[in-house]
Amino acid sequence: MHLTGLVASPGIALGQAVLFAPPLTVPGNRNVATPQEELLRLHSALESSIAELERLQGCVKERLGSHFAHIFRSQQTIAEDEAMLAEDEAMLAEVETMIRERSFSAEGAVQIVFDQYVQLFAELDADDHNRARSADLEDVAKRIRRNLLGLPAADLSDLPQGSVVVARDLYPSDTAMLDTSRVVGIVTERGGVSSHVAILAKSLKIPAAVGVSGAMAAIAFHDQVVLDGGDREIARVMVNPPRRMLQHVRSRKALQVAWRTKVEDFRGLDTVTSDGVEITLSVNMGSTRDIPSACTAGARSVGLYRSEFLFLGSSRVPSEETQFQAYRQAAEAFPRGFVIIRTLDVGGDKQVPSIPVSSEDNPFLGNRGIRLCLARPEIFLPQLRAILRASAFGSVKLMLPLIGGVPELEEALEMIETARQQLEREGKPFDPEMEVGITVEVPSAVWMADALARRVDFFSIGTNDLTQYLLAADRLNGDISRYYRMYDPAVFLAIRQVVQAAQRQRRWVGVCGELGGDPLAIPALIGLGVRELSMLPGQLAEATWLVRTTSLHEASGLAESVLASDSHGEVRDLLGERYRLKSAELSPRPVTIHERNGLCNQLHSRF
Ligand code: PEP
Ligand code: MG
Repeated sequence: MHLTGLVASPGIALGQAVLFAPPLTVPGNRNVATPQEELLRLHSALESSIAELERLQGCVKERLGSHFAHIFRSQQTIAEDEAMLAEDEAMLAEVETMIRERSFSAEGAVQIVFDQYVQLFAELDADDHNRARSADLEDVAKRIRRNLLGLPAADLSDLPQGSVVVARDLYPSDTAMLDTSRVVGIVTERGGVSSHVAILAKSLKIPAAVGVSGAMAAIAFHDQVVLDGGDREIARVMVNPPRRMLQHVRSRKALQVAWRTKVEDFRGLDTVTSDGVEITLSVNMGSTRDIPSACTAGARSVGLYRSEFLFLGSSRVPSEETQFQAYRQAAEAFPRGFVIIRTLDVGGDKQVPSIPVSSEDNPFLGNRGIRLCLARPEIFLPQLRAILRASAFGSVKLMLPLIGGVPELEEALEMIETARQQLEREGKPFDPEMEVGITVEVPSAVWMADALARRVDFFSIGTNDLTQYLLAADRLNGDISRYYRMYDPAVFLAIRQVVQAAQRQRRWVGVCGELGGDPLAIPALIGLGVRELSMLPGQLAEATWLVRTTSLHEASGLAESVLASDSHGEVRDLLGERYRLKSAELSPRPVTIHERNGLCNQLHSRF
C-alpha cells in the first residue's frame, strides 16, 4: 500500500511502525452503578500515573539532563504527594465526593475538578509558578484519565530499535521525549515542511514525511514501512512492501551514503565563492546541548539561537541568571564567529507551559513572537538583560522575531535601551556595540524594509514564516501543504526587495529559515545578495561545496532566472537542473536531487 505526503526531512527510511496515539480526548460523564468500584478505579489509575511519571523522570534525566526531568518531578508531586500540598488533597477529596455523592464516573469527576483548578491557577497570572502548575495539572489530568480507560501510554522514550514513528502530529514537547537513537523515520498526518518536527528531524538526519493523510488508519503497529523522502517534495510511504523491493531500497541507500561522503570532504573549508566573495555559513541552534554537534560539524557562527527552547524545557520561566549562563556558554563556544540570539518566539505552534496564551482562533496571526514579549515585560526585560550580559563574553547579536513594522520595533528598541541603562547603573558588563537585528518574516516588513533597516544593524530572513504569510498557507497544515510553496517566485521577489533595501542602508542580510540550508536554493540566494546562510549542522558540508564552486556572476544570472519564473514548479526545475549539472563535478555521473534523497520513481511503478 502506498501513501503520500510531503518531505519534511529527506532520505530513505526502512523500519517497523510504532503508532503514537494522539492525546486522549475528553470522555463524557456517565452515571455509575457502584461508586465504590469507581473509587477503586480512580486509585488504581492514580497509582499507574505515579509509576509512569517516575519512569519518565528517570529516562528524561538520563537523556536530556535534570533540567527537563524537573517537569516530570513536579507532575509526580501533584499525583502522588497529596499530603504535602493542601490543594492536591482538596482536589482529590472533591473528585471522591463527586463519585460518592453524585454518582459521577471517575473520568468525569477528574475532568471537572481538574479543569476548575487548571482555570484557577491559570488566572493567577501574577505568579509564574501558578501558571506552570496549571499546565502540569492539565497534563496529569490527561494521564489519569487515560489510565482510567486502560489505554497504553503514548511513550516515545522507549522505542524498539529501527522504529518509524507514525503519529497524527508531534509537538515540541513530544519530540523532547523521542529516543532519537532508535528512530529511523517519522511519518505524521499533520504538520508542514517547516514545522518544528521537520526541523528536529532534519537536524538529526532522520527522514520524515508530514501531511500523510490516513497514515494512522493505514499503518498498524509493527508493519514494515519504507519512507521515501526523495522527491524533495512528495514523500512516499509504503506499507509492507514486497521483499524484492527491500533489496532496491538498501542498495539506493548505499548510493546515497557514497554521495554524502563525497560532499563531506568540503566540511570545514573556507566558504568563499569561486570569484572571491565571502559567504558566512552559520548554524541554527535550539539550546546549549546543540553546541557539540555544531562544533563537530565545523560551525564557526550561530545564525539563529532559538531561545524559546530554553523556556520549552522548563516548567517555570528561566531566570535571568539561568538564561545568562546559557547564552554566555554559546557565546564562548564560538570565539571565531558570532552568535545571533533570537528573543523568545513563542505562540503559534510553540506553546510554553510557563507562558500560557489564551486560546486563539488564529494562533499564527495572534499573540506570538515580539507581540507576546511586549505584552509581558516582566519576561522580556530579564531576557534582554541576559543577552546583553552575555555580549561581554563573545560576539553576540540580538534578533527580534515577528517584527511587522516600525511601531513594535521602536517599542522593543526602547526596552533594549532600558536594559542597557539598568546594567550600566548596576555596573554589569556588556558590549555597548552589540548588533541588533530583526527576523524578516512578516510581509509588511518586506515593504517597510528601508525604514526598518535604518533602525537596526542586520536582517535575517525567516523564510519559514515569510512563506506561510506571503502565500497564506499554514506551515503546519498538511491538508493545504501544496500551497506552502517554498520555491515560489514570490518568496524570492520578497528576498530581493529586502536585500535591496538593506543594501541602500548598508546593512547585511542573512537567511535563517529552512531555505537557507537548502542545496537547491543556496546559489540563488547568493545571487540575490544574501551574505549569511544559517542552517542545520548536517547541511554545512554540502553548502560549503556549493559556495566554493559557485561564482557570483553565475549566481546572479541564476537569481535573475528565478525572479523571472512564473511558478514554484518552474523555479524548482531550474534549480534542480543546476544541481544535477553541478553534481557531475563530484561524481562520475550527475546526481539528481531526487537520487540524492530517495528511491527512483521507476521503482515505485515497478512494484
Ligand atoms: C522562520 O520563520 O523562518 C524562522 C527561522 O523561525 P521559526 O522557524 O523558529 O519560526
Ligand atoms: Mg519564524
